[in-house]
Amino acid sequence: MYVQRCIECGREYAPDEVVYTCECGGLLEIAYNLDDIDPSTITAPGRLCVWKYRSLLPVRREPITLLEGGTPLYRCNELERELGIRELYVKHEGMNPTGSFKDRGMTVGVSKALELGMKVVACASTGNTSASLAIYGARANIPAVVLLPSGKVALGKVAQALMHGAKVLSIQGNFDEALELVRQLCESEGFYLLNSVNPYRLEGQKTIAFEVAEALGWHVPDCVVLPVGNAGNISAIYKGFRELRDLGITESVPKMCGIQAEGSKPIVEAFAARALEIAPEPTPETVATAIRIGNPVNAKKALSAIYESGGYAVDVSDEQILASQRALAQREGIGVEPASAASVAGLKKLLDMGVIQEDESVVCITTGHLLKDPETAIANSPPPIEVDATIEAVKRAVFG
Ligand SMILES: *Cc1c(COP(=O)(O)O)cnc(C)c1O
Ligand SMILES: [Zn+2]
Repeated sequence: MYVQRCIECGREYAPDEVVYTCECGGLLEIAYNLDDIDPSTITAPGRLCVWKYRSLLPVRREPITLLEGGTPLYRCNELERELGIRELYVKHEGMNPTGSFKDRGMTVGVSKALELGMKVVACASTGNTSASLAIYGARANIPAVVLLPSGKVALGKVAQALMHGAKVLSIQGNFDEALELVRQLCESEGFYLLNSVNPYRLEGQKTIAFEVAEALGWHVPDCVVLPVGNAGNISAIYKGFRELRDLGITESVPKMCGIQAEGSKPIVEAFAARALEIAPEPTPETVATAIRIGNPVNAKKALSAIYESGGYAVDVSDEQILASQRALAQREGIGVEPASAASVAGLKKLLDMGVIQEDESVVCITTGHLLKDPETAIANSPPPIEVDATIEAVKRAVFG
């Protein structure tokens, strides 16, 4: 069995207690008694997906699922050559049901909400969390309320939240303010909060680590590189790798490398100062709206994941993000949204800095699909060529 345990003071809460942080203010994590878990339930052959790893997931009821997870791990020979690295893979989380890794967390989170008898689910979101909560809310037939920062959410994400029937509120403020508001709303109305402060949601996201290790024959790469916003995913993936190692399934954990945008980098600054806490950024700004977050709630978990694993944190500019988005799209055929491309932009920088060596194996996590943010893709591409409907004009355009 498992408990909810405070990462600061160790205090434990029962699995069915609706609580998001400890009385001391610390973050909670789900702690299993690993002696109870038969490693062969994890390593048994089968189709990759979140619920393959049920024995390490904190849900007993039938899950609310849309067959999330099982995303491709692509070897990237072109980028290996371009960046000068031996072994590079991209785990494309854009291939989930709504097009982001948030689905892994929400299938677990919404299943847990039903198990706990909750009547309404809610979140604040830079976009993808709202899309994901909306579809699992629809699938579970439970109302979903989402708070979005006005004018700062990519088009595809809003379309999903609206079409799947969530109650969508556009807040005149940034993500950090929306999160504060939804926390108060959940507290006063008894709605179930499904931001990544909720430790159950992160349990679903840790299956990224399981799938990476399984796809590599139960070996772990030297480094995992991913974008960091609210810092839940890096914490979750690290926890997954830790559990595999503690179960004796794998030998080690990868170095966890978190990438932030230049205009929104509290974790990078804390890492540079070897600090354990962040100083929030009041006015975060970046083209990568999914990581436009100035006060990441999971900062402490993320920083200990980075320190414990011997990892690193760096920032990249919007130009570098957009260049890597184009490289992934045009050199490898992998379409990702800007935040996801921060992983590859960050890898390039870490190679240049000598933090990652050319003979290491690296997995970049591309967190969301290109179609999430069509406006940015169009704004950074040449426009279609307008052509008269004659074969001469078509040929001139093709060869011209
Ligand atoms: C949510 C999200 C992130 C950031 O993940 P955190 O867990 O908040 O650090 C990065 N990229 C995309 C596409 C996302 O949707
Ligand atoms: Zn505590």
